[in-house]
Amino acid sequence: MNIKILGNGGGVNDGLPYNSFVVDETLLCETPPDIMLSINKNQIDLSSIQTIYISHLHGDHLFGLPFLILSAFFSNDETGTEFSFEIIGPDGLEKMCENLVVSAFTSKHPCIKWMKEFCTFLEISEVSKPTLVDGFETSIFKLDHLIDTYGFSLAREDRSIDFAYVADTRWCESLHRLLAQKPQVVLIDLNGVDNDPEPVHPSMSDLKEKAIPITGEITTYYGTHLKKEFKSTISCVKCAKPGTEINV
Ligand SMILES: [Zn+2]
Ligand SMILES: [Zn+2]
Repeated sequence: MNIKILGNGGGVNDGLPYNSFVVDETLLCETPPDIMLSINKNQIDLSSIQTIYISHLHGDHLFGLPFLILSAFFSNDETGTEFSFEIIGPDGLEKMCENLVVSAFTSKHPCIKWMKEFCTFLEISEVSKPTLVDGFETSIFKLDHLIDTYGFSLAREDRSIDFAYVADTRWCESLHRLLAQKPQVVLIDLNGVDNDPEPVHPSMSDLKEKAIPITGEITTYYGTHLKKEFKSTISCVKCAKPGTEINV
């Protein structure tokens, strides 16, 4: 499995491209405001994307969708390539996507009709079992964020978890349960800092004090959704950077 990081910034950051990544060239995770910039900078072929995963309906994870739809709509016209996306995310996703595309380009723009024809929507909960990447079993888990937010893990037939994505969350029980299975690679929201007045996101201290004691050296953590990039002094913790490719 190949994971390519497109962006590593959180909702507020010091100029980083916003959090998004691609798995096996077919699954795009998150469509933040600058998604088309990230897709082009990282030479991702939009026509190879089949599935789009949105962890939750905050703008730093979704507000680039109208521009992605617009690009697909025009590319379809110009090249005759058949774009179509299955868009997966929490309750309210379809309505929100429609509202966004209409707000961006008005209901008169033909890209809204294109979206309705060529995009399917799947609204998930923690019991859903969508196929995100061919050959891997997906598990969805609920995170502890301000609104409904879901992470996922991808496992092979022997059920060992190759990769897990932990989107915006506080430290929570489902994160503990995930880590007890010792995934090989975890891409995790690391937006928290030690002096946060009220913790909303995990911090490096959470990794050191809570996560690594569970997983030992088996799991490699890539921090994303950052305020700013960091230099890690721990061998199993790395800073996810745009262009980083992780092969599991
Ligand atoms: Zn966020
Ligand atoms: Zn959020």
